[in-house]
Amino acid sequence: YDDRDGKIWMDGQLVDWRSANVHILSHAMHYASSVFEGERAYNGKIFLSREHSERLHFSAGELDFQIPYTVDEIEAAKAEVLRANNLTDAYVRAVAWRGAGEDMGVASQKNPVHLAIAAWEWGSYYGDAKTKGAKIDIAKWKRPSPETIPVHAKAAGLYMICTTSKHAAEAKGCSDALFMDYRGYVAECTGANIFFVKDGEVHTPKADVFLNGLTRQTIISRLAERQIKVHERVIMPEELEGFEQCWLTGTAAEVTPVGQIGDYTFEVGALTRGVADDYEKLVRT
Ligand code: PMP
Repeated sequence: YDDRDGKIWMDGQLVDWRSANVHILSHAMHYASSVFEGERAYNGKIFLSREHSERLHFSAGELDFQIPYTVDEIEAAKAEVLRANNLTDAYVRAVAWRGAGEDMGVASQKNPVHLAIAAWEWGSYYGDAKTKGAKIDIAKWKRPSPETIPVHAKAAGLYMICTTSKHAAEAKGCSDALFMDYRGYVAECTGANIFFVKDGEVHTPKADVFLNGLTRQTIISRLAERQIKVHERVIMPEELEGFEQCWLTGTAAEVTPVGQIGDYTFEVGALTRGVADDYEKLVRT
């Protein structure tokens, strides 16, 4: 991703893609003081753009730093990046981090905070799983307790176990890994939330210790509008056997049907397809 043409917005200006570099002694590199957003533009418009920028500010606050740009300035910067790269349908990545400066220890009050925004074309996150249903591994790591880390932030440090779990999943021929949380409850995948269907009703883990995805929230309100019952509740891993359908939600994942988790199989049914189609239409209106 580093060696290509294009422009990236960095600290207030567009720079050449290949020159969008940071110093090796950036605090974020050593101590994970970095927060980010994943967004998608459809027909030139970023879906829930403002909400993503607000979440970026929230995540930074959870890590005790302030992004030196307002939500409005971030909105303008994202639009500039799309324009500069001639993109209408794209993935947008905003990232804010503590940089290099006077401090090289754990504390870094004196180091500047940076913001960068890049955008590129990114098709289906799970490849052909969108039609066939994704195969999902069960992660050996657990989503951590909210007493150990700010679990609602979209913060780089939380993705360390996502990368290792996804690597383990891919080594087994799976597209992703499903995490239980520290209590043993079904939680989420490495970059997406999860939903199940049983007897025409929808069940999804309560987002109390993981990212309450914007896509998740969108899907829940769309289902409510269609009078489909959604239970946000504790889901135990033993229950996986009894669910008929399953899908993942996320900005990159959009709505991706799941065909298998571990040894349990699910049909890519009408409700799942309906939700996926509805989301596809919604993001383009
Ligand atoms: N959980 C994790 C760990 C994620 O990385 C993402 C993607 N941002 C999600 C859930 C889904 O969030 P959203 O729908 O806001 O993209």
